[in-house]
Amino acid sequence: MSKSIFIDTSRCTACRACQVACKQWKGFEAVPTKQTGTHQNPPDFTPQNNKLVRFSEHKIDGRIHWLFFPDQCRHCLQPGCKMASDPYVDEAIVIDEATGIVVCTEKCKDLTEEQCQEIIDSCPYNVPRRNPETGMLSKCNMCIDRVHAGLEPMCVKTCCTGTMSFGERDDMIRLAEERLEKVKKEHPKAELLDVEDLSVIFLVTQPRAMYHDYACRQPRPLDRGEFLASLVRPFR
Ligand code: SF4
Ligand code: SF4
Repeated sequence: MSKSIFIDTSRCTACRACQVACKQWKGFEAVPTKQTGTHQNPPDFTPQNNKLVRFSEHKIDGRIHWLFFPDQCRHCLQPGCKMASDPYVDEAIVIDEATGIVVCTEKCKDLTEEQCQEIIDSCPYNVPRRNPETGMLSKCNMCIDRVHAGLEPMCVKTCCTGTMSFGERDDMIRLAEERLEKVKKEHPKAELLDVEDLSVIFLVTQPRAMYHDYACRQPRPLDRGEFLASLVRPFR
């Protein structure tokens, strides 16, 4: 059965413990960053930041609201990144059979910079980043080493507000639907994001576009096969 993470943003306090724990478990080096006038730091994903707590500020019904979005790879059931990488290097990106986790392997190093960019562009949530020093594509792997050892991903283990839960996909969907029903009483616009397609399920309280551009699934560019098929499709 596939594993899932449920992220209930209505409970997130933006403490960023998950972001730091992810970095620590992966052994990612500290890199200089800059305060850009927002709580969000670094400003975007980097090869050393697979988890990023996004922050935005909005005026809702005359009051200022802060929205927090602990962003990461969604572990898509049909991952655009893998579909884009398969024609270039077999098994550069794989889906772990036992858990459904989408993993970038060492074979990513055989991809060219241009091919990596194509793969990054194919992700509807703009997640992977290429490490120019190693040639590796970097993104959340749901702490697959911990999961195979029967442990939770590090971000879930660290979150003490109940924002993040981990388990079997069916159980996480059930939990997400139960929480949605409760949260909707206070936030009628609350919704679950793309739940039928993803293994990382977000609950948001406001329209998704208010969190950040890629909270909404962006259309994936056609791969070469799809593009050629579109050329021969008869006009109607
Ligand atoms: Fe939010 Fe939990 Fe991450 Fe803190 S650890 S930023 S509460 S998801
Ligand atoms: Fe791949 Fe992007 Fe889906 Fe993650 S969110 S599995 S990087 S397509």
